[in-house]
Amino acid sequence: MLICATCAVEREEPIPDLCPICADDRQYVPEDGQHWLSLDQLAQSGGQAVLEQNEPGLIAVSTEPKVGIGQTAQLVVTSQGSLLWDPVGFLDDEAVQSILEHGPVVAIAASHPHMFGVQVEWSRRLGNVPVLVAEADREWLGRTDPSIAYWTGTVSISEGLALHQTGGHFPGSAVAHWAAGADGKGVLLTGDSVFPNPDRRTVAFMRSYPNRLPLSGAVALRIAAQLGKLEFDRIYGNFNNVISFGAKDALLDSARRHAAWTRGDFDHLT
Ligand SMILES: [Zn+2]
Ligand SMILES: [Zn+2]
Repeated sequence: MLICATCAVEREEPIPDLCPICADDRQYVPEDGQHWLSLDQLAQSGGQAVLEQNEPGLIAVSTEPKVGIGQTAQLVVTSQGSLLWDPVGFLDDEAVQSILEHGPVVAIAASHPHMFGVQVEWSRRLGNVPVLVAEADREWLGRTDPSIAYWTGTVSISEGLALHQTGGHFPGSAVAHWAAGADGKGVLLTGDSVFPNPDRRTVAFMRSYPNRLPLSGAVALRIAAQLGKLEFDRIYGNFNNVISFGAKDALLDSARRHAAWTRGDFDHLT
């Protein structure tokens, strides 16, 4: 197994010349070409996983130095076990031990293929935990394993914790809804279909962030309408970018703004 240096997604033999995820129009192959790394190489270069509590029951898991695009995983801890969301592309025994100190992990899932990380490796080290992969995105899997289970629509992880397929950035793009988060007001964990912006008041809806390709207004409104049926007040993105409160209104307003701009309502300002 090797890890793409750019996106940090694991891939089994035979290793292709180019990482299919990075060669896709949503990503990029760096100017100096494709590089593959092993977990040992990452560990030897000083890599380590860092855990920090975001709020009670939610632990951010990042890597230092950053691996791939530097995503942050989230560990949602419930009385029925934990969900490891958007697993990072590096792990070691210490990281596994730190995560298990919060109780058993009952599922691993990613918001979309850019966030697969070393999900199968995490599964094996955490006790062959099921890796939930959206059926619509199975073509992007770089490593297969008996632990992988395909899903569509909605899947319950534990009481008050479920995955919802929204599509958008990828057809199988998903969010995790955690009802007990934000002091019981509800939390959404989102990937790139809904991306909390640096202003911490709005979100973006893009097919590609590095190549700046927006989704249509219709898709943004569709996603907002679907997620608007859930109860939540806070959104954490896949880089631990957060909208701390009022996140549902922020999502709905942002979708309307996105639709207006992409429809041409503001062309007189350009
Ligand atoms: Zn890649
Ligand atoms: Zn992405």
